[in-house]
Amino acid sequence: MHQKPDPDAMGSSLALAGVLRQLGHQVTVISPTNWPDFLKWMPGNKAVIDYEASPEKANAALNEAEWLFCLDFNALHRTKHMGARLASLDCVKILVDHHEQPEVAAFDYGISDVSKSSTSEMIYDFIVDSGNEAIINKDIASCLYAGIIGDTGSFRFPATSFRVHEMVASLKKKGLQHSIVHEQLYDNFLEDRLRFIGHVLLHRMEVFYEYNAALIAIPKSDLLKFNVRTGDTEGLVNYPLSIQGIKLAGLVIDRDEERKWSFRSKGNVDVNTFARKYFNGGGHFNASGGRSAESLQATVQLFKKAIKENASQLQ
Ligand code: 5GP
Ligand code: MN
Repeated sequence: MHQKPDPDAMGSSLALAGVLRQLGHQVTVISPTNWPDFLKWMPGNKAVIDYEASPEKANAALNEAEWLFCLDFNALHRTKHMGARLASLDCVKILVDHHEQPEVAAFDYGISDVSKSSTSEMIYDFIVDSGNEAIINKDIASCLYAGIIGDTGSFRFPATSFRVHEMVASLKKKGLQHSIVHEQLYDNFLEDRLRFIGHVLLHRMEVFYEYNAALIAIPKSDLLKFNVRTGDTEGLVNYPLSIQGIKLAGLVIDRDEERKWSFRSKGNVDVNTFARKYFNGGGHFNASGGRSAESLQATVQLFKKAIKENASQLQ
């Protein structure tokens, strides 16, 4: 899975691992970095190896691997420090992902299908199409459902096809308790995080009505003041899009190693290209990310310049 995994990355990986184990395979699930507490309820979570925290353990598993499934990312650099190690492995590498512009040469088999709502939907199709639907149990269903609601914004984004709803119907038949999954993902934070969001919306958000765009820029001091933890900033980028007329939202956070960007858009505003062109990033048409080695101030200036340059698309 990709670094700082989200519900889709972790959910699709644990679901695939669960199925492969039932088919008699020996499976190790590795995350390139740590992951938020709101994913720790997932069945199988305890056995996931954090590559940054336990590189020896992860490398021992990688040394023995015959097949490597790469889920929810399509370029090896999305696995941070693990990228070089994965490139050097000569096992069979299988890509299952739904982002734009895959690094095709890095994989032996697989697909990056941008029409799919989530990698979890693709893993579900893979399980069913390989004749193993009977293996899906309540645990696997919970992991897949978490990935689906994470990546579809609980069924609101355009990629939510009728097939997604059919899949959820079949997961319900397997015993899925959907409201418990929602609570685990979205009602599982500390008070600090809610105070942090209030502070950020009041003091760190700028709206550029002439470009139908908005920006949230978070300095490191805010992260320290509110004890912000991995996952606490997830979803923050969506708030500005709830303002009438806003079509593009940018969120930049001053992390130790880099300034990390998230972009979200509505309709025909292409933030995949936007992130690639200005912020060394990429992702989907309406949801992308990027990064900058420059200061927070400098990268914010670049954002302002970029929206001006893209005025015709935004207006
Ligand atoms: P998020 O804003 O949730 O971190 O990321 C939004 C989407 O863009 C996700 O699908 C994620 O995989 C992708 N993404 C985030 N950061 C980067 C990046 O630096 N490079 C690329 N290529 N994709 C990214
Ligand atoms: Mn995904």
